[in-house]
Amino acid sequence: MHRTKIRVAEDALDANQTIARANRDDFDRAGVAVVNLMSAPGAGKTTLLERAIEGLDGLRVGVLEGDVQGSIDADRIAHLHVPVTQLNTDPGFGGECHLDANMVRSALPEVPLGEIDLLAIENVGNLVCPAEFRVGEDARAMVCAVTEGEDKPLKYPLMFRTCELIVVNKIDLLPHLDFDLDRLLTNIETVNPTATVLTTSARGGEGVDAWREWLAGVAGRRPA
Ligand code: MG
Repeated sequence: MHRTKIRVAEDALDANQTIARANRDDFDRAGVAVVNLMSAPGAGKTTLLERAIEGLDGLRVGVLEGDVQGSIDADRIAHLHVPVTQLNTDPGFGGECHLDANMVRSALPEVPLGEIDLLAIENVGNLVCPAEFRVGEDARAMVCAVTEGEDKPLKYPLMFRTCELIVVNKIDLLPHLDFDLDRLLTNIETVNPTATVLTTSARGGEGVDAWREWLAGVAGRRPA
């Protein structure tokens, strides 16, 4: 019985890989680089995207917003006058806690791939499931807010291991917290020694230039 369950999970992930490759082909044909941005709810994904988009001159950015319900984040991004597409997992996908390749594929007809260089996919806030599903992205990034505690890389290692960029956000709050930044960085190093790690305050602006430059670097990977 247990073996059967494992088998089903493997088949689902194989099917996801096939659709992710189809997404990848569409992105390549359109010359668009794609970032899959993940975090727990409330870590600052949307605010970091807003800060980056405000200063990304000369680069055409689009955003695909994944949420269970509503369009609160998409409405915020729309104020920046970049193309934004809302993808809700409820009810179309049963309120799923992550985006998978098929959900992203279903939204692609609404994404103006011909008008953008970089597509940022803001995944549903969750430190577990989004890490398991490739969606056809070039790069995976995650945000970890200092309010979440130093132990999160050890408790959710797949998420931290699968991302090439880890943004440690809300560092403006450090004076108010019993939080050991060095311990978090050591824990990140333990599970993902090759990750690029940035410390930022989306609110105060510290580190936002480096975050923006990293995004521009990903955009530079798109096919000519
Ligand atoms: Mg958000």
